Amino acid sequence: MDKCKDIARMISDGMDRPLTLGERLRLRIHLMMCRGCSNFEKQMQVLRNMARRFGERPEADKDNRAVGRGNSSG
Ligand SMILES: [Zn+2]
Repeated sequence: MDKCKDIARMISDGMDRPLTLGERLRLRIHLMMCRGCSNFEKQMQVLRNMARRFGERPEADKDNRAVGRGNSSG
């Protein structure tokens, strides 16, 4: 059985890169048996969602109207 420390690392890795099938399998099996890691995984997902929201950059100004009226020379 995997240690919780390894599982935590795997969950953390999964945030940055897609896990392999084997890793996901090990993760799932452990999460089914370990409540602590299961909770940890949920927390990480929440954090990730938040990070994505903050990290998201708004669409480039697609509706950009040039407003430049009124010239005064003098
Ligand atoms: Zn665990």
